[in-house]
Amino acid sequence: MKINFNSITLRTVLHIFTFSVLFILFIIFVIRNIFATAYMDLEKEKIFIIQNNIVPSLSLNLSYGFHEAVNEIANQTLLNKDVLLIKILNYENNNTQLFSNYQHSLEKYKKDGELFSYTKLSDPAMQKDIADLTIIYSNDSYEEYVSNFNTWLFWGVLGFSLSIAFLSFLLYNSLKNLTILDSSLKSFNPNEPKLLELDTSKNDEVSSISLSANIMIKNIIKFLDSLKSLNEKLLQSQVHLKEAQRIANVGSWEYLVNEDKLLLSDEIYRILNMKRDRTLTWSEFQSLICKKDREYIYGVLKDALVKGGRFDIQHCIKLQNKKSLQVHTKGKVRKKANGSVKMTAVSMDITQDTQNKKMIEKLAYYDALTGLPNRVLLKDRIHKAIQNADRLKSKIALIFLDLDHFKLINDTLGHDTGDKLLIYVSALLKKQLRESDTLSRLGGDEFVILLPNITSVEAAKNIANKLVSAFNGQHNIETHQLYITTSIGISLYPDNSDSLDSLIMNADTAMYDAKQDGRNQYKIYSKDMGNYISTQMRVEQDFKLAIDNHNEFEVYYQPKINSVNGEISGAEALIRWNHPTKGLVFPDDFINIAESTGMILDLGKWIIQECMIQIQKWEKVNIIGLKVAINLSAKQFQDSNLVSFIIAMIEQYDIDPAQLEFEVTETVSMANMDATLRVLNELKIIGVNIAIDDFGTGYSSLSYLKKFPINTLKIDKSFVLDMIHDNEDKIIVQTIISMAHSLGFTTVAEGVETKAHVDALIDMKCDYLQGYYYSRPIPKNEFTQLLQNYTPLT
Ligand code: C2E
Ligand code: CA
Ligand code: CA
Repeated sequence: MKINFNSITLRTVLHIFTFSVLFILFIIFVIRNIFATAYMDLEKEKIFIIQNNIVPSLSLNLSYGFHEAVNEIANQTLLNKDVLLIKILNYENNNTQLFSNYQHSLEKYKKDGELFSYTKLSDPAMQKDIADLTIIYSNDSYEEYVSNFNTWLFWGVLGFSLSIAFLSFLLYNSLKNLTILDSSLKSFNPNEPKLLELDTSKNDEVSSISLSANIMIKNIIKFLDSLKSLNEKLLQSQVHLKEAQRIANVGSWEYLVNEDKLLLSDEIYRILNMKRDRTLTWSEFQSLICKKDREYIYGVLKDALVKGGRFDIQHCIKLQNKKSLQVHTKGKVRKKANGSVKMTAVSMDITQDTQNKKMIEKLAYYDALTGLPNRVLLKDRIHKAIQNADRLKSKIALIFLDLDHFKLINDTLGHDTGDKLLIYVSALLKKQLRESDTLSRLGGDEFVILLPNITSVEAAKNIANKLVSAFNGQHNIETHQLYITTSIGISLYPDNSDSLDSLIMNADTAMYDAKQDGRNQYKIYSKDMGNYISTQMRVEQDFKLAIDNHNEFEVYYQPKINSVNGEISGAEALIRWNHPTKGLVFPDDFINIAESTGMILDLGKWIIQECMIQIQKWEKVNIIGLKVAINLSAKQFQDSNLVSFIIAMIEQYDIDPAQLEFEVTETVSMANMDATLRVLNELKIIGVNIAIDDFGTGYSSLSYLKKFPINTLKIDKSFVLDMIHDNEDKIIVQTIISMAHSLGFTTVAEGVETKAHVDALIDMKCDYLQGYYYSRPIPKNEFTQLLQNYTPLT
């Protein structure tokens, strides 16, 4: 066992032991001395008694010279074994008489420490001293007494010491647990808290203390556990905070002004794209602020440091990798009474936010496709322009521009091409304008140009002319060569429009008017234009209602005449709308609406079914083999159900496919060749005929035509109508006919109105003739009658 000299127990026991032993030794020493002195006194008393007993008789006998008696007395006295020697020095004769049982010299007795008693013998009668009496008395009994005493003392001390030692051992043993408790408590490790392994079974104070210590340790363990879980929670929340900071791109930092020390959170390092071990000084940190923002931000921070309080800043920072970020920082400066100043702040990376905001702003004010201002921004600019014009007494022109047949391009070439065209057009238009003009896109193919400060109507007209002619010629969009024209409407403030809304509305009306009047031109707004537009809108509404119940629609038929024998060989189905109030409405007034609203799909299918029903009916009245031509619009070509629908109808009404012909305009077929070809080939497989309608108005070349599975070319009526007076048109018609024949197509001439037309076309070997000369398009019943009563015209 290792002895710990610092142990309280050991020390206590040692102290008790030492002090007890010393104390007892002292007591014993004192007692021993008292007893020894007392014993010595007793011995002296004995000598004194002996001396007193013999002195009178010795004195008397010596004075009388009775030497015998003196000897007798001396020898009697020597009977007392303790009396070792008696010496009488007689003055009278100076004679010394020695009486002793032993032959020892006086010196030896002196040396042995025997007791000496001296007295004088005197003559009682003379009253004078006559001799010295010396008695030497043995100190043996005293020495024996002392020696015995010492022996007892030794055993006593030894016994006492042993019992003290034993008591100390007992004490040490019972206090031993204190030492263990002490070392256990010393070695107590809060990181691995353990209960003390102490004997707590005894009912003593140490056990009680040990028990208390264990209770305390249990409490400490509990406390440590709660501290640990608290710590874990803290750590977790720190992790969460870090994570949240990371997700939110929020970092925190602290600047201890007095120490000029900057503390940055991990997220700040991440935002700054810096390694965590890099320390930044306050001035280095500030120098990250982009130059353009520095002056202002330094000012705000300095102000906050001087005055204390909060600050809220947004600025750009330049990173080492040259990238820049937009940062939003909120913080405050705290000044303590002891003079310490601390700036704490959170910084957020708002780069994405800022970009998003800009994007949203862009979306709110700019057209996503072309990047041009949108309606909102345009209105704002018009508003400002009006205020300006009022002040300067100047004029504003608003130009409404709509591409002609854009829908067709979109439907046939696809939206991607349509979008590319719009981007192309916006660039084209921009080139014609000045910086101060606003070119905006309202949607679709509608562009609006604001000329904020013009001097005269003529100036507006000049620009409109410039715009119209900018579209002249061929435009290459992707692989397509497109010919585009535009219709333009112009309104003027204050000349013909007095407000923002009327400016827009009137320019729109003028644009409609330009379209109505043949497109590819501009019109300046005038009051009488308005009526037409509202009619147009009403038609649109009515048409939507009519399409729900098809009974307002009717298919009319116009005969096609075989130029060789003059017989009716077929008919073209042409749609009519019996308007409840307006009467008969022609397709030119609603086909556009039907196409733009998508209602043409529904209507188109109804027309196809209606024609099949009619063919079946004619068969029943023995009109057999009559060819019916049905017009297909561009939208219908995009309907993936078109061919399957036609097949279903053919089967349902048991029609000979050869009796059906589908007319597709040249523009449609040329515009989206792949899609058209696919549908046409499918139709061809069914066995129906295909005709290219309005041939000559488009720009199709012969090589294209060869690819198409077509049977018939329909020469556009504009050539036919004009060919009598216009030799050029006549040549065109002639060329088309011979070209078609050489490719194996039959030809149909539309717009045959006069005998002259008929003669010329027969001359040119045109196969079929269609036009008012023979019959206008007529209702089915009338057509049945016509068929039954028809005699070829000559
Ligand atoms: P289109 O296919 O070129 O039809 C021929 C147009 O010429 C018809 O006009 C017809 O009435 C007219 N016409 C016939 N003979 C003469 C004539 O001798 N002189 C003159 N000046 N015109 C004549 P409509 O019926 O008004 O149809 C106009 C256009 O509407 C059609 O032109 C066609 O593109 C479209 N359309 C008509 N019906 C339908 C239809 O059912 N479906 C589709 N998708 N389009 C149709
Ligand atoms: Ca047609
Ligand atoms: Ca036609």
